[in-house]
Amino acid sequence: MTDDAFTQPVYHEEDVDSAHIDEKTVAVLGYGSQGHAHAQNLAESGVDVVVGLREDSSSRAAASEDGLRVETPAEAAAEADVISMLVPDTVQPAIYDEIEPHLAAGDTLQFAHGFNIHYGQIEPPEDVDVTMVAPKSPGHLVRRNYVAGEGTPALLAVYQDATGEATDEALAYAQGIGCARAGVIETTFREETESDLFGEQAVLCGGVTSLVKTGYETLVDNGYSPEMAYFEVLNELKLIVDLMYEGGLEEMWNSVSDTAEYGGLTQGDVIVDEQVRENMEETLEAVQNGEFAREWIAENQAGRPAYRQQRQAELDHDIEDVGARLRDLFAWADEDQDEPTEVPA
Ligand code: NAD
Ligand code: MG
Ligand code: MG
Ligand code: MG
Ligand code: MG
Repeated sequence: MTDDAFTQPVYHEEDVDSAHIDEKTVAVLGYGSQGHAHAQNLAESGVDVVVGLREDSSSRAAASEDGLRVETPAEAAAEADVISMLVPDTVQPAIYDEIEPHLAAGDTLQFAHGFNIHYGQIEPPEDVDVTMVAPKSPGHLVRRNYVAGEGTPALLAVYQDATGEATDEALAYAQGIGCARAGVIETTFREETESDLFGEQAVLCGGVTSLVKTGYETLVDNGYSPEMAYFEVLNELKLIVDLMYEGGLEEMWNSVSDTAEYGGLTQGDVIVDEQVRENMEETLEAVQNGEFAREWIAENQAGRPAYRQQRQAELDHDIEDVGARLRDLFAWADEDQDEPTEVPA
């Protein structure tokens, strides 16, 4: 089980006893990115699966066409031993209210992200297991890898172990969706939630878009053409990220010119300086002390006014116009492009 090369336990197929899920019924609530993949993979692994969707859900037809049994979330939960919460994180508390009366002692409430448990938006009774199996990729890849006989790495965490078998059952679930083929890394709800939020805010989604926009604006404000600026700071980013994804920083530095390497090595820390590090510390603090979670929950309760405004401002940025026109010229390139391998969720 424990691989000395890692700081945390990493599980593989040989660590899994599928008997911990074989005879159980799993309710998959939601049939979106993760839900459709978990439901179909588990069913094909021989597990009894029922999909829980509201009567008016547009996903009902898709789940039925895929040969799965569909009931309401409450009915599915009543029947199931394991209830997998795969509706959007902002919707989960409301769906939880519908299923809570149907949680029996010894049942498992299973998540793919820790937000609602970690920030106290869902408070399960003490006699149920609370676990997480979070694939480190979007659902379509979890499904595609499974069909190809391959696996998708996943995180596993146990928040509450009422039965004493929570870890074994979560491992069997991870095996059922194909993740144990690749490796399952143990973590905690706190670590998964806080690192996920920090990563998407500081680097993946927030940091990188602001870096791109500021680079673009700096070039255009100094008289360079928007087309050149777009290619240099946005389009080429994919090539750089692909190299880092394949072979780490070393492969990227080896692949660019010596001039790019020298300039990048000397200027990187000038651009992302100590002030940025302090900003990141503040962003992390707001994640850790719950300030960000409270803000996002209140924003949802208010109907998302700030979210909509910020999103519109982003779409109105000049780089979006020039980008759309340039991408039209290169529409043929889409055919060669893989779907994204990791979408921060
Ligand atoms: P999603 O946005 O694809 O939607 C899931 C499904 O929930 C929808 O298809 C629908 O069936 C149902 N749904 C949507 N709105 C609803 C509503 N208002 N009321 C009732 N049902 C509704 O969700 P997702 O991205 O699969 O996320 C599910 C969980 O998986 C989340 O906890 C998320 O954080 C986690 N996760 C997602 C990814 C990812 O790449 N998408 C990766 C890892 C973990
Ligand atoms: Mg039950
Ligand atoms: Mg260049
Ligand atoms: Mg993530
Ligand atoms: Mg996320």
